[in-house]
Amino acid sequence: MSLANLIARETQRFLETHPKSAAQAKALDAHWLFGAPFHWMKDWAAPVVIIAEDGEGAVLTDIDDNTYDDFCLGDTPGMFGHGRPEIARAVAEQARRGATFMLPTQESAEVGALLAERFGLPFWQTTLSASDANRALIRWARAVTGKSVIVVFDGCYHGMVEDCLVELRHGRTRPDAGLIGQVFDMTRTTRAVSFNDIGALEAALAQGDVAAVLAEPAMTNCGMILPEPNFWKRAQALATKAGALLILDETHTLSTGPGGATKTWGLAPDALVIGKAIAGGFPAAVWGVSAELGEKITAAKTSGGRSGIGTTLAGNAMGIAAIGATLREVATAEAYDVMLAGAEALVAKLRAVIAKRALPWCVVHVGARAEIVFAPEPPRNAAEMRPALAQGELNHALHLYLINRGVLIAPFHMMMLVCPATTTQQIDRLVAAVDSFAEEFARESA
Ligand code: PMP
Repeated sequence: MSLANLIARETQRFLETHPKSAAQAKALDAHWLFGAPFHWMKDWAAPVVIIAEDGEGAVLTDIDDNTYDDFCLGDTPGMFGHGRPEIARAVAEQARRGATFMLPTQESAEVGALLAERFGLPFWQTTLSASDANRALIRWARAVTGKSVIVVFDGCYHGMVEDCLVELRHGRTRPDAGLIGQVFDMTRTTRAVSFNDIGALEAALAQGDVAAVLAEPAMTNCGMILPEPNFWKRAQALATKAGALLILDETHTLSTGPGGATKTWGLAPDALVIGKAIAGGFPAAVWGVSAELGEKITAAKTSGGRSGIGTTLAGNAMGIAAIGATLREVATAEAYDVMLAGAEALVAKLRAVIAKRALPWCVVHVGARAEIVFAPEPPRNAAEMRPALAQGELNHALHLYLINRGVLIAPFHMMMLVCPATTTQQIDRLVAAVDSFAEEFARESA
């Protein structure tokens, strides 16, 4: 059987087990563009959109009563598990007393202190999404440095941030292939460099016109790519020498440890962005800055400047309550211990399957997050990763195969996240499904 036939078989199986989702998908088509409230919801390998019913811990249920071991966790907002009672209580209590006032609540001071203590930067602001936080910091970085250029890494994703929708092709920064609706040339003010290439970073900084380097500590949106030893130490030193700020986007790498990769690896950025899971999945994000950068930002603002930054709901009382509950009760050291141990076990078991089946794949692992990469060695940059990501049929087949065996992983690539509620049985089911797929796949490709 070819991969195409396997996909056809699995598509049939999916449709047989998801009749209510299929019917509901037709109803969605009537008034939602793309047939869903947001078009990414259609990016799964499933032939029709899965209609979610319930989420509890690491289990998701759909309206056909299928249950899934959820290793996607909403692509990270549910990193500490779905339906956490601590978050539900905090949000509901605040909603009863008023959702948003454009005023701080009593709890805000404590939440600021919790952020400072945990992440090691003294001053914070909130937004509704990590995209907004990145956009805000890029603007502040340009304001305080008086420089226009930002440096990002090829293959990056920092959300709906025009400045970052670029890639490196034939040594030049280009808008992302196929990008629609882009009317200004962001390549004039954004420079993309290859991850782990310290020489390229040095060259990108050499003209002295860089306001900030914006990066994930480990890349997680172009497959997963880890920094080489000492990369960040050297990159930090280069940025400082060039007078550029280092902004680390920990939106995904918060899964590395309680203080993100920054704390775990002893990094010293000027600014941090943390979104998605920071409010237990409730829509909120935060950005934090060093004392020095905080002073400069305050000076830029108080010198009569108009920031042009913000949205009415930023800092809303429910979001603050959810962040407080997350930091105090949910994202605890004990929770991380369980997540990290679970991910270690998952990675060891996946690597054993890969070895047993002699697959030309590897597993990249950081903290509670892991990725199966269709390449024998972990890629060091986006150019090396792209051939692995281009195996579209294999990617589609494995995702669909997993869905049909009750396993969800991030729809865009092979990324898995372990939450505090993830059980050994769930890990074993995922590994068994990958193993049986590999057996069929090996049989097919023989
Ligand atoms: N930064 C990173 C590293 C991300 O992975 C994402 C989303 N995948 C974002 C920012 C944007 O987050 P949001 O969609 O919440 O704006």
